[in-house]
Amino acid sequence: MSRIVQKFGGTSVGDVERIKKVADRIRLTIKEGHEVVAVVSARAGVTNELIARAREITDQPSEREMDMLMSVGEQETIALTALALQELGVTAVSFTGGQAGIQTDKIHTKAKIQAINAAAVEEQLQAGNAVIVAGFQGVNEHGHITTFGRGGSDLSAIAIASALKADRCEIYTDVDGVYTADPRVVTKARKIDEISYDEMLELASSGSKVMQSRSVEFAHKHNVVFEVRSSFNFNRGTIVKQEVPQMEKVVVRGVAVDRDQAKVIVSNIKDEPGSAAKVFQVMADAGIVVDMIVQNVGRNGVANLTFTVPLGDTLKAQQALEPCLEDLGGGQVEVQENIAKLSVVGVGMKTHSGVAAELFRALADVGVNIDLITTSEIKISVVVDQDKVDNAARAVHTAFGLDAE
Ligand code: ADP
Ligand code: ASP
Ligand code: MG
Repeated sequence: MSRIVQKFGGTSVGDVERIKKVADRIRLTIKEGHEVVAVVSARAGVTNELIARAREITDQPSEREMDMLMSVGEQETIALTALALQELGVTAVSFTGGQAGIQTDKIHTKAKIQAINAAAVEEQLQAGNAVIVAGFQGVNEHGHITTFGRGGSDLSAIAIASALKADRCEIYTDVDGVYTADPRVVTKARKIDEISYDEMLELASSGSKVMQSRSVEFAHKHNVVFEVRSSFNFNRGTIVKQEVPQMEKVVVRGVAVDRDQAKVIVSNIKDEPGSAAKVFQVMADAGIVVDMIVQNVGRNGVANLTFTVPLGDTLKAQQALEPCLEDLGGGQVEVQENIAKLSVVGVGMKTHSGVAAELFRALADVGVNIDLITTSEIKISVVVDQDKVDNAARAVHTAFGLDAE
């Protein structure tokens, strides 16, 4: 008998009919002789709705209360899934993250999993029951509910698979697997059969929301092999694992787009040692994660610093910087939100030259201006105009020979 963790995302449990279909898939897996732990998300849109309601009350909600609120969505779907299973004659029990033994640190809204005490889940499995666990949530040492950041049910599934030493971990979603680009944007995107953790992590952290990036990091660290596949059919999906044969032969594995970034320009500050340190200390103190950074050549003793921050943090960044402008020798802060980051990712870049040139040529050919550029060993990212990013992604996808025939 093997043990399988199956995670069902928001669209897969989007309404009662879909929840019944999910229950039927779990029933089939059990009928094949497997033990099943299912991790479910909130119905698609519910987490956003809950957040919007809090925003109607306040701009700066307490993060503890946001966790209490956001975790509600998953509690609805675990109960409905367990009921649907019981209706099919399968004995099933639903567990919140805390009841499933998921212990986290104290950081509300982006908690880290510290340990999983799987005894209660084990006991249910031993008794022959299916266990339905609420994704996205755990509890801290005081028993308070915490959540893992948006898309965090992926992390719940992978961490539970690791703790239970599951034989398989399957992430069911609304697409057939991981594609060379978001298939909703690039219709010629191809499904990837196998992808390495490194490439999956770069794609996820560059905006490919098919997997939460933290969950991929966790899987890599704990060597959890998982499959991303569709809950709407029985096609094979994408296997994510350590090594993929002939990895380096493919120069660009995929293209990712991130629309959730904003650009901050701090201009006319003193071009002297310590200016950049001050600016980024202010960002760090405000808890803002800075992504791309560009400093222009200083002229006449003044310099400009440009960087990107998460879209939700633009106001916070501006408010944090304004009071220290004087200390930086005057200057202005300006924020631009109508931008997007486009990235190409591939392990093969390590051994191929000319990738940047090809990327820039493809963008030039469709008239897309490049604003900022950063590179890492297996990724090149550019910031472009948000209105042009979809077209840019399609052009780059074609240029690197990724289009499906
Ligand atoms: P779930 O609710 O199941 O977690 P998500 O909406 O979080 O699903 O992730 C699935 C979505 O990710 C797809 O519908 C697709 O539009 C998007 N996506 C972005 N990049 C990719 C990619 N490279 N491959 C597949 N899907 C992608
Ligand atoms: N419901 C949460 C979200 O929308 C977690 C998840 O779906 O993975 O972010
Ligand atoms: Mg998701």
